[in-house]
Amino acid sequence: MTVEKYRLRCLEGGEVVRDRYTLDCPDGHVSLLRTEYSSRQLQLRESPGIFRFCDWLPIGHTLPLDAGPVCYRSEGLARELHIDNLFIDFNGYWPERGAAITTCSFKELEAIPTVIRQRERRPGVLVIASAGNTARAFLQVSAVTGTPVVVVVPETALSRLWTTAPARQAFVIAVRGDYTDAIAFSREVCTLPGFLAEGGAKNVARRDGMGTVMLDAAVTIGRMPDYYFQAVGSGTGGISAWEAALRLKGDGRFGPVLPSLRLCQNLPFIPMVSAWNERRRYLVPEKDMPDAKHAIGEVYSDVLTNREPPFSIRGGVFDALSDTRGEMYAVSNDEARAAEKLFADTEGIDLDPAASVCTASLVSACEAGELERNGTVLLNITGGGYRRVREDYTLLPVSAALTVPAGSRVDDGTRELLDWVKHHV
Ligand SMILES: *Cc1c(COP(=O)(O)O)cnc(C)c1O
Repeated sequence: MTVEKYRLRCLEGGEVVRDRYTLDCPDGHVSLLRTEYSSRQLQLRESPGIFRFCDWLPIGHTLPLDAGPVCYRSEGLARELHIDNLFIDFNGYWPERGAAITTCSFKELEAIPTVIRQRERRPGVLVIASAGNTARAFLQVSAVTGTPVVVVVPETALSRLWTTAPARQAFVIAVRGDYTDAIAFSREVCTLPGFLAEGGAKNVARRDGMGTVMLDAAVTIGRMPDYYFQAVGSGTGGISAWEAALRLKGDGRFGPVLPSLRLCQNLPFIPMVSAWNERRRYLVPEKDMPDAKHAIGEVYSDVLTNREPPFSIRGGVFDALSDTRGEMYAVSNDEARAAEKLFADTEGIDLDPAASVCTASLVSACEAGELERNGTVLLNITGGGYRRVREDYTLLPVSAALTVPAGSRVDDGTRELLDWVKHHV
């Protein structure tokens, strides 16, 4: 009898669920599904990038791709902040440190296993709605693997879409509206036969892909860190870090204590900070995100502005914070800009604005004397190296194949889409 590499379990009902690129509990529980791997102990592979951690990814085969997290001990920033044990996990492009994510954010850690899982588990074409970094990551993985994808973005995000290889199998739809309008149109596309919603936080490949940041840190440090700092929009990265830590605890070689999640958002849009400060599981829009449209327009990092984060769902951000003695921080634009400069001066690489927000939250936690002396800190730099990548690569812009007004029904673009699918699948 062969032992399955992994299975899915519903956290609410406890039932085992067969994986057909399954996103929701078939019994209707409002809960995330979680992977359970047959190997309790992590055996590192000799493979490049994230495939080193293949044991704990929901995929059967690997690809020759180098993208992966890179963990190192900080000297410059650590000295500046008086932290003895500061580790940086860099997710972006920085070849001098072995960091090879050419689309410059940790979204590529999610896109790679997602594409493999989909190809292995369910025929169809993935549909991804994104405001920028996720779209770019999936376009890149589509380009280097030849996997067809449909990417739906607000028209204003088109300038952020580029790859380092031609994305010939990608169909980009621009929506004349905001991120929420792009999500609505992507749902329309998914009503057509043969199209699959990528799934966001509900997609276990996405979470376990991001979880490799925590795995990478634990094997580099030799144990789990005491604190995990990350800037969040959906909070999926925080959930992933928690789940990876639960597995590492089960492994037994990396310590018994889960890292305390220290998550931050960018003022003035801070719904999860607002709810967590009251230890409230349910978001109350009038209270937690008043005047959301305006607030979203004001932030330095717009990837941190998700209006429907998986906060209250079973196994979501609220549970992750509760289980890890978590804290959340609100960071102003000025603090983020100052931290960005500090990081560039002390570590020597340019940051994604979200990573600047995260660095700022670490600065203020240090100034407030909140961290235990001798504590080991992991700073998740979720994106960076945009300047550095331009020195080595020609960035190829990706343009929209179809542009639709906000609120469109799928009929408008149906024929073109179906033609495209017929051609590719
Ligand atoms: C998406 C993104 C985040 C937020 O990640 P979540 O865990 O999904 O909230 C942070 N930084 C960068 C660079 C991102 O692209």
